Amino acid sequence: MRITVIGTGYLGAVHAVCMAKAGHEVLGVDQDAAKIDALAAGRAPFFEPGLPELLAEGLASGRLSFTTDAAEAATFGEVHFLCVGTPQQPGSNAADLRHLHAAVEALAPHLHRPCLVVGKSTVPVGTAAALAAKVAELAPVGAAAELAWNPEFLREGFAVEDTLRPDRLVVGVTGEHAEEVLRRVYAPVLALGTPWISTDLATSELVKTAANSFLATKISFINAMAEICDATGANVTTLADAIGHDVRIGRRFLDAGVGFGGGCLPKDIRAFHARAQELGVGSALDFLEHVDTVNLRQRARTVDAARELLGGELAGRRVTVLGATFKPDSDDIRDSPSLHVAELLLAEGAEVRVHDPEGLANTKSAHPGLECVESLEDACTGADLLLHLTAWQQYQELDPAEVAASVRTPLLLDGRNALDAGRWAAAGWTVRLLGKPAPA
Ligand code: NAD
Repeated sequence: MRITVIGTGYLGAVHAVCMAKAGHEVLGVDQDAAKIDALAAGRAPFFEPGLPELLAEGLASGRLSFTTDAAEAATFGEVHFLCVGTPQQPGSNAADLRHLHAAVEALAPHLHRPCLVVGKSTVPVGTAAALAAKVAELAPVGAAAELAWNPEFLREGFAVEDTLRPDRLVVGVTGEHAEEVLRRVYAPVLALGTPWISTDLATSELVKTAANSFLATKISFINAMAEICDATGANVTTLADAIGHDVRIGRRFLDAGVGFGGGCLPKDIRAFHARAQELGVGSALDFLEHVDTVNLRQRARTVDAARELLGGELAGRRVTVLGATFKPDSDDIRDSPSLHVAELLLAEGAEVRVHDPEGLANTKSAHPGLECVESLEDACTGADLLLHLTAWQQYQELDPAEVAASVRTPLLLDGRNALDAGRWAAAGWTVRLLGKPAPA
């Protein structure tokens, strides 16, 4: 099939290469010419495991190409996936839908044959219906353009795997034809036995925001438990293990720490609550405000713990922040808890150095006040405190004894409870964890 993917960011670039891998002819479209030039030249514009290989394969096969031209896209595709950003509006909790509207306004007037426009971006419920009306209004008579929704559940760091082998496919459609087209698009994925959920537009939009709200709630729940554990000397990891054995609860997403961030969960729960308020049912989702508050409080708690470890004063102390990205195996620093904490430390006068295996280029441009250090060894040398905030594998492989020899004071705050605390303590480190006692 001939498919366009409009918006080639973290979601769209991966979707485009995976659609080519699935055997389709794919045209990736973005308004960012630098991104399109990079992709067309075989350079992944961001770090995502497996993306460079599939990009090279797609370009070599001749089935994958890129453009900035919406009219070219309209001529090319039978199916147009909308993968543009839906960030938080400045000064409001609501989602900013202007990129989606702009993408449809650029595409629809050029459509001239039957096609399906499929939204993948995460949106407030009701957006798909509004965009369907816009497509109908702007597409020339005879274009017979339909709109469907197909929310995306990929995780950065696992995006290729999640796209090729998702745990479910959800489509919101208004008729059988759209569903039939989407079944053809996803035929290789469906052949793996992937569950297929076909529903109306509104439900498909809600599946995504509900899923993200549930995940965010799970993380804030365990972080709230971590606060109680800290106040009582209890151990949040043991607690999570014990409740996680109950299959109704499950162990995943119950790791206490500095909390969630990134370009999705924080803005999605806020936009969901804002949309519920617009619909007059805001109180049903008021709990999401608490989920957000508990989450943001972990960042402040981490700074408090750092200050306490340093004897009550951060000014002039050298703190090395291990990890800048909001999660490992990504270069994405959007709303990263690590960088938020780093900025808070800086504001209190600490000398902050940040290390990250993949996220430093983005950090330098978005946080010019932070000192970014490429070498992990140099980043740790002379530190008064190591603050582990992104659980990269590389940090788990550090030799605590070796690092102890280069720092000024062997103080470690593991804001992800992910390092082998016993090993660090045995090497002479004073270790502080979130929600659990430090090892003896
Ligand atoms: P992103 O910012 O990385 O990418 C968005 C891309 O859209 C950018 O490259 C931008 O230049 C392009 N764009 C904006 N307006 C355009 C237009 N009018 N025409 C063409 N291109 C345009 O964002 P992302 O992380 O890929 O997220 C995209 C959407 O997918 C969001 O709604 C997000 O919530 C959702 N989503 C993201 C993920 C994820 O892990 N990143 C997972 C699931 C869903």
